[in-house]
Amino acid sequence: MLEIKDLRAEVDGKEILKGFNLTVPKGEVHAIMGPNGSGKSTLSYVLSGKDGYEVTGGSATWNGQDLFAMSPEERAQAGVFLAFQYPMEIPGVASLTFLRAAMNAHRKARGEAEISIPDFMRAVKTEAEKLSISMEMLKRPLNVGFSGGEKKRNEVLQMALLKPTLCLLDEMDSGLDIDAIRIAAEGVNRLRSPDTAMIVITHYQRLLNYITPDVVHVMARGQVLRSGGKELAVELEESGYASYGAEAA
Ligand code: ADP
Ligand code: MG
Ligand code: MG
Repeated sequence: MLEIKDLRAEVDGKEILKGFNLTVPKGEVHAIMGPNGSGKSTLSYVLSGKDGYEVTGGSATWNGQDLFAMSPEERAQAGVFLAFQYPMEIPGVASLTFLRAAMNAHRKARGEAEISIPDFMRAVKTEAEKLSISMEMLKRPLNVGFSGGEKKRNEVLQMALLKPTLCLLDEMDSGLDIDAIRIAAEGVNRLRSPDTAMIVITHYQRLLNYITPDVVHVMARGQVLRSGGKELAVELEESGYASYGAEAA
């Protein structure tokens, strides 16, 4: 399971996470909802090990392993995957090339041989089809000129191929229309398993109609202020975040 205790972290000398606590058992999906600026993306960056985010206190362990003692690559190899709110565009690297390199890095870390090109192409075709991603698109540079929905589906494709066990999904629904959300969410649901823990970060309840969480947490000002069942998301949709100290949008 994922255990985060009294986590404090800062960016550019500004404390963003201010004693954050969260436990996600394997097999569960937890939603983190909160107003803009509450530190949701910062949390996902800190857990995945992005540069420039300094942990100043507390701990985070995944299956008993201290995440902060590991490099970002080691965390990825331990099964941690962050699907970005705004996936990066990488000009000059075809999506297929990127996907194969990522799969091979994981295999290498496990002491396995590289995946053969035919096996790779078969795996990609199978998963891409489920996500309505064309092979044409995968020959293009990673995310360059992709629509919001295509970028998010591409993140889900990476997850489907890498099979992470700790999935951090940062505002997967931002900028997506209903059909794109449904396709991406179905892809995420296929990855749910007894060995997988997921954190679904979202501002809106809507996404949780497609990915049903076991627990919903309200995050504001760098802390979890309240936790509850999926009905809490519906309540938030009606009442907004004002009672959690957030300004109305
Ligand atoms: P959320 O994802 O919940 O909208 P973020 O984690 O993106 O929140 O941001 C939390 C807070 O951290 C915001 O107040 C934001 O302005 C601040 N912040 C984010 N990045 C930086 C940075 N590089 N330097 C200073 N402050 C930052
Ligand atoms: Mg934000
Ligand atoms: Mg964010």
